[in-house]
Amino acid sequence: MTIPHLTNYVAFAIPFFFLLIGIELIVDKIKNGHHYRFSDSITNLSCGIGNQVVNATIKLLALGAYYWLQSHYSLFKIPVDSPIYWLLCLICVDFAYYWYHRLSHEINFMWAMHIVHHQSEEYNLTVALRQAMFARLIAFAFYLPIAFIGFPIEMFFVVAQFQLIYQFWIHTPYVPKLGFLEYIFMTPSQHRVHHGKNSIYLDKNHGGTFSIWDRLFGTYREETVKVYFGTTKPLKSWNPIWSNFVYWREMIDVAKTKSTFSEKIKVFLKGPKDMPIPAEGLPEVTYKYDTPKMKWMNRYVFVHFVLAVLCLGLYLKQAKVEFDFSFYYLGAIILVSILNFGAMFELKRWVRWSELLRMVMIVGFLYITFQNGFINHIGWLVIGAILSLISWTVMNRLLDRYQTGLTPISS
Ligand SMILES: [Zn+2]
Ligand SMILES: [Zn+2]
Repeated sequence: MTIPHLTNYVAFAIPFFFLLIGIELIVDKIKNGHHYRFSDSITNLSCGIGNQVVNATIKLLALGAYYWLQSHYSLFKIPVDSPIYWLLCLICVDFAYYWYHRLSHEINFMWAMHIVHHQSEEYNLTVALRQAMFARLIAFAFYLPIAFIGFPIEMFFVVAQFQLIYQFWIHTPYVPKLGFLEYIFMTPSQHRVHHGKNSIYLDKNHGGTFSIWDRLFGTYREETVKVYFGTTKPLKSWNPIWSNFVYWREMIDVAKTKSTFSEKIKVFLKGPKDMPIPAEGLPEVTYKYDTPKMKWMNRYVFVHFVLAVLCLGLYLKQAKVEFDFSFYYLGAIILVSILNFGAMFELKRWVRWSELLRMVMIVGFLYITFQNGFINHIGWLVIGAILSLISWTVMNRLLDRYQTGLTPISS
């Protein structure tokens, strides 16, 4: 069974995402909005990178399942050339998304994945790209009924991507309420409410493209008072990998306190509201995690972040289901990169060694890639090894400098 060729519109949209982030950043500087913090934005984007690395494989498996179901068990043969079916497909996708998203807020094991999207305590376009690594594992099941109805995969995939791309622009603090459009579409104002940790805003406005579902099913809330962003129990970390596991750790800790097996399982099936409040209590709604400003460390991270994005582009071009060592090896380098960026912001001691590991992995990748060299693989290896050594030395000097001169700020 071969899936028909499908165009990846999200990949085409990525340069525009960065362009719009650049424009919003300029607006933020002009207006003195302070909606951007470097470490927060890089962590948001790093989460997006982690999501793309893992998703490259999950997406192919999910589309395979969709196509298999649509080919073998669909109720109707739906033509791809009628606009009304495209609109119907969008309504079905958005309806499925509403329930996937709502349940992701109401069931612990789903929240454990979706929480990543809500951990930023800022609100700007980089938050849109802050996506969980494994959420697609659950999300795709919600779309399978659409395959069962019979919407062709070519139609579904375009609509699902449009529905996803639509949600990018609503992550901005700079667009006010939009009048009558608020009644039909999800807007920045409504989605700000969704990201709010104010008690009145919790678990509201789950819609993706349309706002009608929240109004129909009783989860609509209008933006009325200043929104404070993030989760009620903050992550207090810039680590984009840990952010995907933190809530699993919390659930496992609570499950350990339960005596019977069924009570342990229930911890994963109940909602975040049923979780115990930590002994030290929850911080004020105005709380924001922060670490000291480190101009040169930020520059180091920025250069390597740009390289990681370029590696991601290379990685996504090679995405396939079959096992390919160099593909997964490159994915591993990207994951170690984003792990290290977060650790550098937090001045973790272990980042010296994990950055050394990353440099060795990069040299290893050059060895694999240039084995049949375009110049001479030994030449590439030597250049790569020298640059990696210089880079590692620079990071060590920066760590020495900042670790001795600064202590982390916790609030
Ligand atoms: Zn959400
Ligand atoms: Zn969002």
